[in-house]
Amino acid sequence: AAEEGFDVEDIEGAIEAAGHGPLPVLAVVGRPNVGKSTLVNRIIGRREAVVEDKPGVTRDRVTYEAEWAGRRFKLVDTGGWEQDVLGIDASVAAQAEYAIEAADAVVFVVDAKVGATDTDEAVVRLLRKAGKPVVLCANKVDGMSGEADASYLWALGLGEPHPVSALHGRGTGDMLDAVLEALPEAPAQTFGTAIGGPRRIALIGRPNVGKSSLLNKVANEDRVVVNEVAGTTRDPVDELIELGGVTWKFVDTAGIRKRVHLQQGADYYASLRTAAAVEKAEVAVILIDASETISIQDQRIVTMAVEAGRAIVLAFNKWDTLDEERRYYLEREIETELAQVAWAPRVNVSARTGRHMEKLVPAIETALEGWEARVPTGRLNAFLGELVAAHPHPVRGGKQPRILFGTQAGTKPPRFVLFSSGFIEHGYRRFVERRLREEFTFEGTPIHISVRVRE
Ligand code: GDP
Ligand code: GDP
Repeated sequence: AAEEGFDVEDIEGAIEAAGHGPLPVLAVVGRPNVGKSTLVNRIIGRREAVVEDKPGVTRDRVTYEAEWAGRRFKLVDTGGWEQDVLGIDASVAAQAEYAIEAADAVVFVVDAKVGATDTDEAVVRLLRKAGKPVVLCANKVDGMSGEADASYLWALGLGEPHPVSALHGRGTGDMLDAVLEALPEAPAQTFGTAIGGPRRIALIGRPNVGKSSLLNKVANEDRVVVNEVAGTTRDPVDELIELGGVTWKFVDTAGIRKRVHLQQGADYYASLRTAAAVEKAEVAVILIDASETISIQDQRIVTMAVEAGRAIVLAFNKWDTLDEERRYYLEREIETELAQVAWAPRVNVSARTGRHMEKLVPAIETALEGWEARVPTGRLNAFLGELVAAHPHPVRGGKQPRILFGTQAGTKPPRFVLFSSGFIEHGYRRFVERRLREEFTFEGTPIHISVRVRE
């Protein structure tokens, strides 16, 4: 029924828009200089890319949300890759491999003016092996005369080359139409195997925080059940580990154990790896070295997991090395530097001594419970009614915007839509979120709140 001036279609539309599950992932791969970044910027709109360009953070951002023809998806930008010490083939292959692993579909960009190179051929082999849907982008076709160049790329055996000028926008619409056809509605990696299978954990954190030590600790003390081999020629990527009587899947453990050290682009490589692991997981256990000052890199990893909408546990490692003074400063740092995840369960562990390992599983379970929680509409509205009565929105311009009602549109993570009589200020939204968390114990999960204003 129509409520408080909203019509039914409005309400249903808002709930559907807010309730979308995790988005499918599209990776853009290819050699350096073929135009990947230009293409990504064109797809997401240059504005967002520029906004994210904080000094020193420029190339760490690897995933963006994008939309085409009303469908939303995540875009993994591999344009930040630079040739490293291993040479161009190795670096492009490694980069592409990670991106492909995390993706539901791939746009493979080739410079049509140059034609297919040996490196391109190497990427094609990776794409074949991965078996993911591929859209071939023949870039730098700025005019009609370039179309012939594009047609040579049929020879790659990836189907129709889509002639595109990422720079001018020519052909990008047609190519994106093809992308949407190739892209599944929901990410297969996340939900395809979810039902009944083990819960998926991404163990993430910057280099040297102790990820591989922790993994070894939990895998040794408890039985390693199986090593799953993905494909025949690859390292095991996911590991099943029994903890607290439950089997968990630690995703992307090869990335932790392999410890590839590259000089150039190493941070970027780590970011891509982290993004890939987070995409595949339901819960991110973020490891932080408690003996060192919390860094921007730690915060970026936290942000990545929050933005991906995963359940989150913070594990402060190397607790065995902390003296009283460090413990004091750590608490202050957590308050200021990790305020965005003040709601995340926290464990103070030592991968070396095994301290508090047994607290990890309960924290993970708590986070997953919050992540999947659903608040019945009746209870939500009783809570909102009381909240609004006790703490009304401040009056603005003689009017008092009011939250009229709300509903939970989705879970994993929880997503809410609130319907209001006017614009709800940021501060008030934050206040509502805080109270929602308190009332319904959304521990360990990001929550999304969107507000629909009555026209
Ligand atoms: P990436 O290394 O693959 O991310 O490549 P970039 O996006 O940085 O592009 C490399 C260079 O190619 C830049 O100078 C771009 O301006 C140029 N470029 C990208 N797309 C096009 C295009 O469609 N046409 C032309 N003529 N140049 C392009
Ligand atoms: P990763 O790069 O995150 O996988 O980190 P590693 O597991 O390789 O650990 C980096 C270094 O920190 C190694 O020298 C470890 O021995 C050390 N380390 C890891 N966990 C602990 C811990 O709990 N206490 C102490 N004192 N050292 C640790």
